[in-house]
Amino acid sequence: MTVVEKIKNLDEKQCVVNVLLDSVKAHPCKDCGKCVFGYEGITQFEMILKDITERKARSEDKVLLTDLANLMVTQALCDDGKEIAQAMLTALDKQGEVFDEHISKKQCRAGVCKQFMTFHVLASKCNGCTECMEVCEEDAISGKNKFVHVIDNDECTRCGKCIDVCSQGAIVLAGAIKPKCPKKPIPCRKK
Ligand code: SF4
Ligand code: SF4
Repeated sequence: MTVVEKIKNLDEKQCVVNVLLDSVKAHPCKDCGKCVFGYEGITQFEMILKDITERKARSEDKVLLTDLANLMVTQALCDDGKEIAQAMLTALDKQGEVFDEHISKKQCRAGVCKQFMTFHVLASKCNGCTECMEVCEEDAISGKNKFVHVIDNDECTRCGKCIDVCSQGAIVLAGAIKPKCPKKPIPCRKK
């Protein structure tokens, strides 16, 4: 299946930006260098897409990708370069709003890009052991013994250490749909 076909047949569990990034990373233009537009284009594609999936996008990135792809479609020497550029244009045309959500709203609707996920403690499972708070180097977790702990996602760097240390499975990752959790520590119901 070509990258263009892949982009046209994505389901709701796939993120178009992530699929494009994976395709760009494995693309033959990266190791070719026979034409400037293919080599430079694929290098810029990878940098910009990586930034978008890691919450580091700039507002002009969508326009940059469009301009680059339009140049590559006409100027790349071989079909490899033209095809990945066409895939980019197809993605921007069919799922432009998904790029906007990543860039402006800091959301990945498919829940694929880890940097857009948020961490939450489920009150029904937390026994207030304090292990997660102790392991969090960012001081992003508040709580005390036998209280349901609460994660501040503005401080959280998504390292995942709290999930690893929680023996109760009380910490979950969420995409666009968030679980209902206490906003501040409350006494645990779970013993
Ligand atoms: S979320 Fe898990 S590790 Fe943190 S206090 Fe609750 S049970 Fe303990
Ligand atoms: S993912 Fe890392 S930074 Fe975020 S709350 Fe858990 S331990 Fe802290």
